[in-house]
Amino acid sequence: MAFEYAPAPESRSVVDLKSSYGLFIGGDFVDGSGPTFKSVSPATEEVLAEITEASDDDVDRAVRAARQAYTRVWSRMPGRERAKYLYRIARIIQERSRELAVLESLDNGKPIKESRDIDLPLVAAYFFYYAGWADKLEHAGYGDDPRPLGVAGQIIPWNFPLLMLSWKIAPALAAGNTVVLKPAETTSLTALLFAEICQQADLPPGVVNIVTGAGATGSALVAHGDVDKVAFTGSTEVGKAIARTVAGTSKRITLELGGKAANIVFDDAPLDQAVEGIVNGIFFNQGHVCCAGSRLLVQESVYDDVLSRLKRRMATLRVGDPLDKNTDVGAINSAEQLAKIQELSEIGETEGAQRWSVPCRLPDRGFWFAPTIFTGVSQAHRIAREEIFGPVLSILTFRTPAEAVEKANNTPFGLSAGVWTDKGSRILWMADQLRAGVVWANTFNRFDPSSPFGGYKESGFGREGGRHGLEAYFAN
Ligand code: NDP
Repeated sequence: MAFEYAPAPESRSVVDLKSSYGLFIGGDFVDGSGPTFKSVSPATEEVLAEITEASDDDVDRAVRAARQAYTRVWSRMPGRERAKYLYRIARIIQERSRELAVLESLDNGKPIKESRDIDLPLVAAYFFYYAGWADKLEHAGYGDDPRPLGVAGQIIPWNFPLLMLSWKIAPALAAGNTVVLKPAETTSLTALLFAEICQQADLPPGVVNIVTGAGATGSALVAHGDVDKVAFTGSTEVGKAIARTVAGTSKRITLELGGKAANIVFDDAPLDQAVEGIVNGIFFNQGHVCCAGSRLLVQESVYDDVLSRLKRRMATLRVGDPLDKNTDVGAINSAEQLAKIQELSEIGETEGAQRWSVPCRLPDRGFWFAPTIFTGVSQAHRIAREEIFGPVLSILTFRTPAEAVEKANNTPFGLSAGVWTDKGSRILWMADQLRAGVVWANTFNRFDPSSPFGGYKESGFGREGGRHGLEAYFAN
């Protein structure tokens, strides 16, 4: 049954957008020496603000500010004092969460109900969690007196702008490092609002520096001689380039890269719950999720049943205005990403898979892609091997648990996997067999600050989150 919904738009008046933004260096917003570029709302193509592209000189200025703050202030400050700043930042994030959520949805295109109910609560939780560690580092399991590394260069993608910022900045600061962070070109605005929050929290100048820009800015940060650690989340291709730059230097590195996760449904699974998990696994955040369940493996005996339930459920998804509180699937983040999703979907059809998209009206302006599934997919198809990073699900089948494991592991990636079954013993057996950093059982896309997250193989190395996430920011 189709329901009529009255629009329920969240007001954007809570956000005070400036027409242009500089860089955040040494505790102040400063002009950069590079050109500017525009940040647009992917839902409407409206220009939101002019952003500065940080040059090599600007990156150098930021790294010098971070080094000074590290040597003079932050590395000397007792952990219990650093904790106070992190708690303060966490509380301000909670207080300003509506403003941050609206800006995130405006700039990124994700539905407000996700930025409001998932991203922002998690962002605050990561800061609270690592604030809690700052005065207990000697109990983290990394020696009696773990020492910070120094200056961390951190580069984040556009799919979870603030959440990835919190995964990077909170552990680095808790461990006593200072940071220079580069947000993605299409989603810099919430990082710049976070810079204001650092000012509001009276964070000592230079402890957090934000340099906006594109790939060249990120590359200058990675190559800078006074950066001690590089933390990157993004595509496997750029991750490999970063690894090549860092190779042979004393820099430490963590890479959180792509994925092509298998979401595996056995015939004894509670199917309605599994269908919710399939939908959440691939349509959450428009499928712009590195750990998305983009390959559905269904046991053959329940294939027809799962497929018909899935289509019925997908038909209820509401695609449209990210600021409307009814919206389930928002806008694709950029024209480039939309082109990539369209291209891979066309390749899927050319290679012989059958495409089905939700029949829905897409807005005239902006970047949109209807939730889509492919059946008749074989393991050799590109849509089964490559990260599409959009609301596109490839469906395959299996007969035995061993076949499910073999198909799930048949990928160069290894970030996450999901298992749906009634049997606890099978969950444990599968978790043991699957080459994935995270295995969810009867759920999907669950995150918690106390739980480590990271990959195998081309999904990268190092862990973020939990006690493990601190390790990457210690020298010993
Ligand atoms: P990138 O890997 O290019 O972007 C991630 C971050 O790295 C951004 O801040 C980007 O800046 C920056 N960057 C780009 N080039 C360099 C470089 N040479 N040195 C240092 N930093 C650099 O991802 P894209 O946005 O281009 O997306 C491409 C594809 O990557 C997507 O289609 C998707 O498949 C995948 N992806 C995977 C993510 C994941 O978490 N697994 C996240 C994002 C994308 P800028 O954005 O300004 O170019």
